[in-house]
Amino acid sequence: MSLTLTDQAHAGIRSLHAYEPGKPIEDLKRELGLSSIIKLASNENPLGTAPAATRALAEFAGELHRYPDGNGFALKQKLAARHAIEPGRITLGNGSNDVLELTARVFLGPGKNAVFSEYAFAVYPIVARAVNAETRVVPALGASAEMPRGHDLDAFMDHVDDNTGVVFIASPNNPTGTWLAPAAIEAFLDALPAHVVVVLDEAYLEYQDRDQRPDSRAWLERYPNLIVTRTFSKIYGMAGLRVGYGLSSPEVADYINRVRQPFNVSTIGLHCAEAALDDKAFIDRSIGTNTVQRAALAAELQARGLSCLPSQANFITFDCGEASTPLFQAMLREGVIVRPLASYDMPEHLRVTVGAAEDNARFLAALDVVRDRG
Ligand SMILES: *Cc1c(COP(=O)(O)O)cnc(C)c1O
Repeated sequence: MSLTLTDQAHAGIRSLHAYEPGKPIEDLKRELGLSSIIKLASNENPLGTAPAATRALAEFAGELHRYPDGNGFALKQKLAARHAIEPGRITLGNGSNDVLELTARVFLGPGKNAVFSEYAFAVYPIVARAVNAETRVVPALGASAEMPRGHDLDAFMDHVDDNTGVVFIASPNNPTGTWLAPAAIEAFLDALPAHVVVVLDEAYLEYQDRDQRPDSRAWLERYPNLIVTRTFSKIYGMAGLRVGYGLSSPEVADYINRVRQPFNVSTIGLHCAEAALDDKAFIDRSIGTNTVQRAALAAELQARGLSCLPSQANFITFDCGEASTPLFQAMLREGVIVRPLASYDMPEHLRVTVGAAEDNARFLAALDVVRDRG
Protein backbone atom coordinates (compact mmCIF):
# COMPACT_ATOMS: atom_id res chain seq x y z
CA MET A 1 0.00 0.00 0.00
CA SER A 2 1.37 3.44 -0.83
CA LEU A 3 0.04 6.42 1.02
CA THR A 4 0.77 9.96 -0.12
CA LEU A 5 1.49 12.89 2.17
CA THR A 6 -1.95 14.21 1.22
CA ASP A 7 -3.51 11.03 2.58
CA GLN A 8 -1.67 11.66 5.83
CA ALA A 9 -3.26 15.10 6.36
CA HIS A 10 -6.75 14.51 7.79
CA ALA A 11 -9.92 15.67 6.02
CA GLY A 12 -10.25 18.76 8.22
CA ILE A 13 -6.79 19.97 7.26
CA ARG A 14 -7.39 19.20 3.58
CA SER A 15 -10.53 21.38 3.66
CA LEU A 16 -8.61 24.44 4.88
CA HIS A 17 -6.92 27.36 3.17
CA ALA A 18 -4.22 29.25 5.05
CA TYR A 19 -5.46 32.45 6.71
CA GLU A 20 -4.86 35.42 4.47
CA PRO A 21 -3.45 38.31 6.51
CA GLY A 22 -3.70 41.96 5.53
CA LYS A 23 -1.01 42.76 2.99
CA PRO A 24 2.21 43.85 4.74
CA ILE A 25 3.55 47.33 3.94
CA GLU A 26 6.98 45.89 3.09
CA ASP A 27 5.45 43.59 0.43
CA LEU A 28 3.84 46.50 -1.35
CA LYS A 29 7.02 48.60 -1.17
CA ARG A 30 8.95 45.75 -2.75
CA GLU A 31 6.37 44.99 -5.44
CA LEU A 32 5.54 48.50 -6.59
CA GLY A 33 8.56 50.49 -5.46
CA LEU A 34 6.27 52.88 -3.60
CA SER A 35 7.73 54.80 -0.68
CA SER A 36 4.69 56.24 1.04
CA ILE A 37 2.15 53.60 1.97
CA ILE A 38 -0.68 53.50 4.47
CA LYS A 39 -2.09 50.25 5.76
CA LEU A 40 -5.69 50.22 6.92
CA ALA A 41 -6.08 46.49 6.45
CA SER A 42 -5.56 44.78 9.82
CA ASN A 43 -7.38 46.92 12.37
CA GLU A 44 -4.15 48.12 13.94
CA ASN A 45 -4.05 51.17 16.19
CA PRO A 46 -3.19 54.27 14.09
CA LEU A 47 -1.69 55.93 17.18
CA GLY A 48 0.97 53.21 17.47
CA THR A 49 1.83 51.29 20.64
CA ALA A 50 0.94 52.34 24.18
CA PRO A 51 4.02 54.42 25.21
CA ALA A 52 4.20 52.62 28.56
CA ALA A 53 4.73 49.36 26.67
CA THR A 54 7.45 50.88 24.50
CA ARG A 55 9.29 52.03 27.62
CA ALA A 56 9.06 48.53 29.12
CA LEU A 57 10.74 47.15 25.99
CA ALA A 58 14.06 48.75 26.77
CA GLU A 59 13.85 47.96 30.45
CA PHE A 60 13.72 44.18 29.97
CA ALA A 61 16.07 43.89 26.99
CA GLY A 62 18.77 42.37 29.24
CA GLU A 63 16.62 39.38 30.21
CA LEU A 64 16.21 37.70 26.87
CA HIS A 65 18.56 34.78 27.58
CA ARG A 66 16.03 33.60 30.21
CA TYR A 67 12.82 31.73 29.47
CA PRO A 68 9.70 33.79 30.12
CA ASP A 69 7.64 33.16 33.24
CA GLY A 70 5.56 30.27 31.92
CA ASN A 71 2.73 31.09 34.30
CA GLY A 72 2.76 34.80 33.57
CA PHE A 73 2.39 35.48 37.29
CA ALA A 74 2.81 39.26 37.27
CA LEU A 75 0.58 39.88 34.26
CA LYS A 76 -2.12 37.60 35.65
CA GLN A 77 -2.00 39.42 38.99
CA LYS A 78 -2.49 42.70 37.25
CA LEU A 79 -5.30 41.42 35.04
CA ALA A 80 -6.94 39.79 38.07
CA ALA A 81 -6.95 43.11 39.91
CA ARG A 82 -8.21 44.94 36.83
CA HIS A 83 -11.13 42.58 36.31
CA ALA A 84 -11.71 41.82 40.02
CA ILE A 85 -11.31 38.13 39.28
CA GLU A 86 -9.19 35.23 40.59
CA PRO A 87 -5.92 34.68 38.66
CA GLY A 88 -6.96 31.04 38.22
CA ARG A 89 -9.65 32.17 35.79
CA ILE A 90 -7.10 33.71 33.41
CA THR A 91 -5.36 31.91 30.52
CA LEU A 92 -2.64 33.82 28.70
CA GLY A 93 -2.22 33.34 24.97
CA ASN A 94 0.20 34.16 22.19
CA GLY A 95 -2.45 36.58 20.98
CA SER A 96 -6.06 35.74 21.67
CA ASN A 97 -5.96 33.52 18.58
CA ASP A 98 -3.84 31.17 20.66
CA VAL A 99 -6.66 30.93 23.23
CA LEU A 100 -9.13 30.17 20.41
CA GLU A 101 -6.89 27.39 19.18
CA LEU A 102 -6.30 25.94 22.65
CA THR A 103 -10.05 25.96 23.27
CA ALA A 104 -10.60 24.00 20.06
CA ARG A 105 -7.96 21.47 21.05
CA VAL A 106 -9.64 20.86 24.39
CA PHE A 107 -13.32 20.93 23.45
CA LEU A 108 -13.44 19.96 19.75
CA GLY A 109 -12.31 16.97 17.71
CA PRO A 110 -13.65 14.28 15.38
CA GLY A 111 -17.38 13.74 15.94
CA LYS A 112 -17.75 17.18 17.57
CA ASN A 113 -19.03 20.34 15.92
CA ALA A 114 -18.31 24.06 16.24
CA VAL A 115 -21.10 26.58 15.66
CA PHE A 116 -20.51 30.15 14.47
CA SER A 117 -22.09 32.77 12.26
CA GLU A 118 -21.76 33.39 8.57
CA TYR A 119 -19.38 36.38 8.12
CA ALA A 120 -17.68 35.61 11.46
CA PHE A 121 -13.93 35.77 12.12
CA ALA A 122 -11.95 33.49 9.78
CA VAL A 123 -9.97 31.90 12.59
CA TYR A 124 -12.97 29.97 13.98
CA PRO A 125 -13.25 27.52 11.08
CA ILE A 126 -9.46 27.18 10.98
CA VAL A 127 -9.09 26.10 14.61
CA ALA A 128 -12.13 23.81 14.41
CA ARG A 129 -11.20 22.00 11.21
CA ALA A 130 -7.58 21.76 12.30
CA VAL A 131 -8.78 19.25 14.93
CA ASN A 132 -11.11 17.57 12.42
CA ALA A 133 -14.32 18.91 13.96
CA GLU A 134 -17.38 19.68 11.88
CA THR A 135 -18.12 23.39 11.29
CA ARG A 136 -21.73 24.60 11.33
CA VAL A 137 -22.24 28.03 9.84
CA VAL A 138 -25.37 29.82 11.03
CA PRO A 139 -26.91 32.11 8.38
CA ALA A 140 -26.43 35.74 9.40
CA LEU A 141 -29.22 38.29 9.70
CA GLY A 142 -30.32 39.71 6.35
CA ALA A 143 -28.88 42.76 4.64
CA SER A 144 -31.94 44.80 5.61
CA ALA A 145 -32.11 43.67 9.27
CA GLU A 146 -31.64 46.23 12.03
CA MET A 147 -28.15 44.72 12.48
CA PRO A 148 -27.40 43.81 8.85
CA ARG A 149 -25.30 40.64 8.49
CA GLY A 150 -25.06 40.39 12.28
CA HIS A 151 -25.12 37.17 14.33
CA ASP A 152 -28.61 35.59 14.55
CA LEU A 153 -28.48 34.07 18.03
CA ASP A 154 -31.96 32.52 17.74
CA ALA A 155 -30.81 30.62 14.68
CA PHE A 156 -27.66 29.47 16.52
CA MET A 157 -29.89 27.33 18.73
CA ASP A 158 -31.10 25.29 15.74
CA HIS A 159 -27.51 24.27 15.01
CA VAL A 160 -26.56 23.18 18.53
CA ASP A 161 -26.87 19.51 19.47
CA ASP A 162 -25.32 16.94 21.82
CA ASN A 163 -22.13 16.94 19.76
CA THR A 164 -21.60 20.70 19.85
CA GLY A 165 -18.32 21.39 21.61
CA VAL A 166 -17.90 25.13 21.11
CA VAL A 167 -20.01 28.08 19.97
CA PHE A 168 -17.97 31.09 18.80
CA ILE A 169 -19.52 34.55 19.11
CA ALA A 170 -17.71 37.77 18.24
CA SER A 171 -19.08 41.05 19.52
CA PRO A 172 -18.18 43.35 17.89
CA ASN A 173 -17.57 40.93 15.05
CA ASN A 174 -14.82 41.09 12.46
CA PRO A 175 -15.23 41.61 9.47
CA THR A 176 -18.70 43.13 9.88
CA GLY A 177 -18.28 45.44 12.91
CA THR A 178 -21.74 44.38 14.09
CA TRP A 179 -22.42 43.66 17.74
CA LEU A 180 -24.91 42.01 20.08
CA ALA A 181 -26.96 43.61 22.83
CA PRO A 182 -25.77 42.39 26.25
CA ALA A 183 -29.29 41.17 27.08
CA ALA A 184 -29.32 39.03 23.92
CA ILE A 185 -26.03 37.37 24.84
CA GLU A 186 -27.27 36.73 28.34
CA ALA A 187 -30.52 35.15 27.12
CA PHE A 188 -28.47 32.96 24.78
CA LEU A 189 -26.21 31.80 27.62
CA ASP A 190 -29.30 30.99 29.68
CA ALA A 191 -30.85 28.93 26.91
CA LEU A 192 -27.74 27.01 25.87
CA PRO A 193 -27.13 23.48 27.23
CA ALA A 194 -24.47 23.55 29.96
CA HIS A 195 -22.11 21.18 28.10
CA VAL A 196 -21.51 23.66 25.28
CA VAL A 197 -18.53 25.98 25.66
CA VAL A 198 -19.21 29.54 24.50
CA VAL A 199 -16.30 31.66 23.35
CA LEU A 200 -17.25 35.33 23.49
CA ASP A 201 -14.56 37.08 21.46
CA GLU A 202 -14.23 40.65 22.70
CA ALA A 203 -11.19 41.76 20.68
CA TYR A 204 -12.91 45.09 19.94
CA LEU A 205 -14.75 45.62 23.21
CA GLU A 206 -12.87 48.79 24.12
CA TYR A 207 -14.11 50.48 20.95
CA GLN A 208 -17.76 50.04 21.86
CA ASP A 209 -19.78 52.86 23.35
CA ARG A 210 -19.84 52.32 27.09
CA ASP A 211 -23.57 51.66 27.24
CA GLN A 212 -23.26 48.88 24.64
CA ARG A 213 -20.46 46.93 26.35
CA PRO A 214 -21.53 43.80 28.16
CA ASP A 215 -20.32 43.16 31.71
CA SER A 216 -19.09 39.76 30.60
CA ARG A 217 -16.88 39.44 33.64
CA ALA A 218 -20.00 39.25 35.82
CA TRP A 219 -21.30 36.36 33.69
CA LEU A 220 -18.30 34.16 34.43
CA GLU A 221 -19.59 33.08 37.81
CA ARG A 222 -23.01 32.19 36.44
CA TYR A 223 -21.83 30.38 33.31
CA PRO A 224 -18.93 27.96 33.90
CA ASN A 225 -19.04 27.16 30.16
CA LEU A 226 -18.16 30.76 29.14
CA ILE A 227 -14.74 31.83 27.85
CA VAL A 228 -14.29 35.55 27.21
CA THR A 229 -11.29 36.41 25.03
CA ARG A 230 -9.48 39.75 24.99
CA THR A 231 -6.38 41.00 23.24
CA PHE A 232 -3.52 43.49 23.47
CA SER A 233 -3.35 43.57 19.66
CA LYS A 234 -5.99 46.18 18.99
CA ILE A 235 -6.51 49.13 21.32
CA TYR A 236 -3.17 48.62 23.14
CA GLY A 237 -1.37 48.74 19.79
CA MET A 238 0.64 45.57 20.42
CA ALA A 239 -0.35 43.33 17.49
CA GLY A 240 3.30 42.62 16.74
CA LEU A 241 3.95 41.31 20.26
CA ARG A 242 1.21 38.63 20.34
CA VAL A 243 -0.48 38.79 23.73
CA GLY A 244 -4.09 37.95 24.49
CA TYR A 245 -5.99 36.16 27.21
CA GLY A 246 -9.08 34.23 28.12
CA LEU A 247 -11.31 34.62 31.18
CA SER A 248 -13.28 31.54 32.21
CA SER A 249 -14.16 29.23 35.08
CA PRO A 250 -11.08 27.85 36.88
CA GLU A 251 -12.06 24.40 35.58
CA VAL A 252 -11.97 25.47 31.93
CA ALA A 253 -8.75 27.43 32.50
CA ASP A 254 -7.19 24.31 33.98
CA TYR A 255 -8.06 22.20 30.92
CA ILE A 256 -6.74 24.82 28.54
CA ASN A 257 -3.51 25.09 30.49
CA ARG A 258 -2.91 21.37 30.05
CA VAL A 259 -2.41 21.80 26.31
CA ARG A 260 -0.80 25.25 26.34
CA GLN A 261 2.84 25.48 25.29
CA PRO A 262 4.72 26.24 28.51
CA PHE A 263 6.25 29.47 27.23
CA ASN A 264 3.58 30.65 24.81
CA VAL A 265 3.90 34.34 25.73
CA SER A 266 7.34 35.94 25.39
CA THR A 267 9.16 37.82 28.14
CA ILE A 268 8.77 41.05 26.23
CA GLY A 269 5.10 40.36 25.59
CA LEU A 270 4.42 39.75 29.27
CA HIS A 271 6.25 42.88 30.46
CA CYS A 272 4.86 45.17 27.79
CA ALA A 273 1.30 43.99 28.36
CA GLU A 274 1.69 44.59 32.07
CA ALA A 275 2.94 48.12 31.46
CA ALA A 276 0.29 48.85 28.83
CA LEU A 277 -2.52 48.04 31.25
CA ASP A 278 -1.59 51.16 33.22
CA ASP A 279 -1.48 53.45 30.20
CA LYS A 280 -4.94 54.88 30.64
CA ALA A 281 -4.10 58.11 28.80
CA PHE A 282 -3.21 56.18 25.64
CA ILE A 283 -6.33 54.03 25.82
CA ASP A 284 -8.55 57.08 26.30
CA ARG A 285 -6.87 58.86 23.39
CA SER A 286 -7.24 55.77 21.19
CA ILE A 287 -10.93 55.44 22.01
CA GLY A 288 -11.50 59.16 21.46
CA THR A 289 -9.74 59.19 18.09
CA ASN A 290 -11.57 56.09 16.92
CA THR A 291 -15.00 57.33 17.95
CA VAL A 292 -14.58 60.66 16.17
CA GLN A 293 -12.85 59.28 13.07
CA ARG A 294 -15.21 56.32 12.70
CA ALA A 295 -18.21 58.64 12.54
CA ALA A 296 -16.43 61.00 10.13
CA LEU A 297 -15.32 58.16 7.86
CA ALA A 298 -18.79 56.57 7.79
CA ALA A 299 -20.28 59.96 6.88
CA GLU A 300 -17.77 60.39 4.02
CA LEU A 301 -18.52 56.92 2.66
CA GLN A 302 -22.25 57.43 2.94
CA ALA A 303 -21.95 60.80 1.19
CA ARG A 304 -20.49 58.87 -1.75
CA GLY A 305 -23.54 56.61 -1.80
CA LEU A 306 -21.61 53.69 -0.29
CA SER A 307 -23.60 51.93 2.38
CA CYS A 308 -21.74 50.98 5.56
CA LEU A 309 -22.52 48.19 8.00
CA PRO A 310 -23.05 49.54 11.51
CA SER A 311 -19.74 49.31 13.40
CA GLN A 312 -18.74 49.52 17.04
CA ALA A 313 -15.20 48.46 16.19
CA ASN A 314 -12.14 50.24 14.78
CA PHE A 315 -13.01 49.49 11.18
CA ILE A 316 -15.85 50.05 8.74
CA THR A 317 -17.12 47.52 6.21
CA PHE A 318 -18.91 49.05 3.26
CA ASP A 319 -20.64 47.95 0.09
CA CYS A 320 -18.82 49.09 -3.06
CA GLY A 321 -21.75 48.19 -5.31
CA GLU A 322 -19.27 46.37 -7.56
CA ALA A 323 -16.60 43.68 -7.20
CA SER A 324 -14.27 44.97 -4.49
CA THR A 325 -11.11 42.99 -5.28
CA PRO A 326 -10.26 45.08 -8.37
CA LEU A 327 -10.84 48.26 -6.33
CA PHE A 328 -8.55 46.88 -3.62
CA GLN A 329 -5.87 46.17 -6.23
CA ALA A 330 -6.21 49.60 -7.81
CA MET A 331 -5.90 51.22 -4.38
CA LEU A 332 -2.67 49.29 -3.75
CA ARG A 333 -1.18 51.14 -6.69
CA GLU A 334 -2.17 54.37 -4.93
CA GLY A 335 -0.25 53.17 -1.86
CA VAL A 336 -3.32 52.40 0.25
CA ILE A 337 -3.88 48.90 1.66
CA VAL A 338 -7.42 47.93 2.68
CA ARG A 339 -9.11 44.55 2.98
CA PRO A 340 -11.26 42.95 0.28
CA LEU A 341 -13.79 40.49 1.70
CA ALA A 342 -14.30 37.98 -1.12
CA SER A 343 -12.84 35.27 1.12
CA TYR A 344 -15.64 36.04 3.59
CA ASP A 345 -18.28 35.63 0.86
CA MET A 346 -18.74 39.39 0.69
CA PRO A 347 -17.26 40.00 -2.78
CA GLU A 348 -18.57 43.57 -3.08
CA HIS A 349 -17.49 44.78 0.37
CA LEU A 350 -14.27 46.37 1.55
CA ARG A 351 -13.15 46.64 5.15
CA VAL A 352 -11.15 49.71 6.09
CA THR A 353 -9.50 50.29 9.45
CA VAL A 354 -10.35 53.64 11.01
CA GLY A 355 -7.09 55.57 10.88
CA ALA A 356 -6.03 58.97 12.10
CA ALA A 357 -7.59 61.90 10.21
CA GLU A 358 -4.76 62.10 7.65
CA ASP A 359 -4.87 58.33 6.95
CA ASN A 360 -8.60 58.45 6.33
CA ALA A 361 -8.25 61.46 4.04
CA ARG A 362 -5.63 59.63 2.00
CA PHE A 363 -7.83 56.52 1.86
CA LEU A 364 -10.82 58.54 0.64
CA ALA A 365 -8.72 60.31 -1.99
CA ALA A 366 -7.44 56.96 -3.29
CA LEU A 367 -10.95 55.54 -3.30
CA ASP A 368 -12.20 58.51 -5.32
CA VAL A 369 -9.39 58.11 -7.84
CA VAL A 370 -10.00 54.42 -8.44
CA ARG A 371 -13.80 54.71 -8.55
CA ASP A 372 -13.71 57.63 -11.02
CA ARG A 373 -11.40 55.64 -13.20
CA GLY A 374 -13.55 52.50 -13.06
C1 LIG B 1 -7.96 40.92 15.66
C2 LIG B 1 -8.89 39.91 16.23
C3 LIG B 1 -8.51 39.11 17.30
C4 LIG B 1 -7.16 39.30 17.95
O1 LIG B 1 -6.26 38.34 17.58
P1 LIG B 1 -4.85 38.31 18.33
O2 LIG B 1 -4.43 36.89 18.15
O3 LIG B 1 -5.11 38.65 19.76
O4 LIG B 1 -3.98 39.29 17.65
C5 LIG B 1 -9.39 38.22 17.83
N1 LIG B 1 -10.64 38.12 17.34
C6 LIG B 1 -11.07 38.88 16.33
C7 LIG B 1 -12.48 38.77 15.87
C8 LIG B 1 -10.20 39.79 15.73
O5 LIG B 1 -10.60 40.53 14.70
